[in-house]
Amino acid sequence: MKKALIIGGGFAGCAAAHQMSQLSGWDITLVESAPFLGGGVKTHWHGGHPFTYGPRHFLTQDDRLFDYLNRLVPMRRCQEHEFVTYIEQDAQFYNFPIHKDDVQRMPECEQIEEELEVAHGAAAARNLEEYWIGSVGRTLYEKMVKGYTEKMWMLPEARMLDDFGWSPKGVALKEGPRACWDSAISAYPVAPNGYDDYFDIATAGTKVLLNTTITDYDLEKKRAKINGDWHAFDLIISTVSPDVLMGPAYGELPFIGREFLKIVLPVEFAFPENVYFVYYAGGEPFTRAVEYKKFTGHKSDSTFIGLEMPSLTNKLYPYPIKTEIAHAQEYFENMPEGIVSIGRAGSYKYIDIDDIIDQAMVMAEQIKGGGLDHPVPIHGDWFRDVAAEMRAANAA
Ligand SMILES: Cc1cc2nc3c(=O)[nH]c(=O)nc-3n(C[C@H](O)[C@H](O)[C@H](O)COP(=O)(O)OP(=O)(O)OC[C@H]3O[C@@H](n4cnc5c(N)ncnc54)[C@H](O)[C@@H]3O)c2cc1C
Repeated sequence: MKKALIIGGGFAGCAAAHQMSQLSGWDITLVESAPFLGGGVKTHWHGGHPFTYGPRHFLTQDDRLFDYLNRLVPMRRCQEHEFVTYIEQDAQFYNFPIHKDDVQRMPECEQIEEELEVAHGAAAARNLEEYWIGSVGRTLYEKMVKGYTEKMWMLPEARMLDDFGWSPKGVALKEGPRACWDSAISAYPVAPNGYDDYFDIATAGTKVLLNTTITDYDLEKKRAKINGDWHAFDLIISTVSPDVLMGPAYGELPFIGREFLKIVLPVEFAFPENVYFVYYAGGEPFTRAVEYKKFTGHKSDSTFIGLEMPSLTNKLYPYPIKTEIAHAQEYFENMPEGIVSIGRAGSYKYIDIDDIIDQAMVMAEQIKGGGLDHPVPIHGDWFRDVAAEMRAANAA
């Protein structure tokens, strides 16, 4: 039997364990520093209400990924939900993605219409600010995006984000339906404990060590010191930030984190029927309020709201800044053979649950094909290219 070590038991570690367990001949150990699996997607309870840290609904354009998860933990579709943003200067809630119809309700309506007329597009944009101004004009950008972005990333200037090839919702200005994800699958597990059964199913064939943090690594020899003893592996799958795995040889990789505030309200529902969460783009100390019952289907006379406040106390969002991504790339390029780095921190990329399952699938395909004699930073464009090549080869 070959031996694999998985570092971290969040979604990425569990998805990796599941994929590895379906390849024959691997003895798998997963090490998780927390007392539970699932990372931020684990379901917790407050006043009888189930919740995760952040919305964590499953969003994907890829039926294959939805089918995989839905087979293991049945999912409830929630296609209809709309996001809204509170703009305190207007004392108004507007749709997000920005909706064309809302422009009529904005005090600067005429100015915005003029700017939309001449918006030249985002093709030549060099940073997030140019992307948005090119897409929707300066007034809408400053009202709806700039302040929110600076708060969310704790940055003095939103334009510091220059890996801007995405708009968070895939569209800058929407027309037609208000549901945010009308072109994607949006779903949440039916079970009251959310995704938790997935973490157990995925790791059923794996030796799981909770409350365990690896203190020393010898990556060249693929060895790790676990609970005081050195163990050697044939493969190490890391889901932690590469600067944690390798030591900060190429500089510390910055992340932004979140504090989480819990509030139970004495009403059955606080938000309108199709509103599951609200963004706050102004001076409020929080970025988002989520009404969990909308996702979980929990029945109660009260409702539970989670507020997310940007913070430096934990590492949850890698910065979409090219210089930082280049630092991460240095780690990936210098990773010894037989080390795979996946997951949000492990890829140093702002990816979601669906991308993470996809990464684990691609990784397992590579291992099956014997293609792990080269370091495999499953990261960014490289990952997308390999995934596309594999699908094309499989389809042929
Ligand atoms: C607030 C928030 C809201 C989100 N909402 C959504 C959403 O609605 N939909 C969606 O698809 N995605 C969402 N995401 C993204 C998605 O949930 C994450 O990308 C995904 O869960 C990350 O999984 P991971 O395993 O890479 O990381 P994590 O969940 O962070 O797991 C890493 C694990 O490694 C453990 N660990 C860390 N260091 C060590 C160590 N040295 N030794 C052992 N263990 C260690 C940690 O305890 C943790 O359990 C959200 C993310 C955040 C932060």
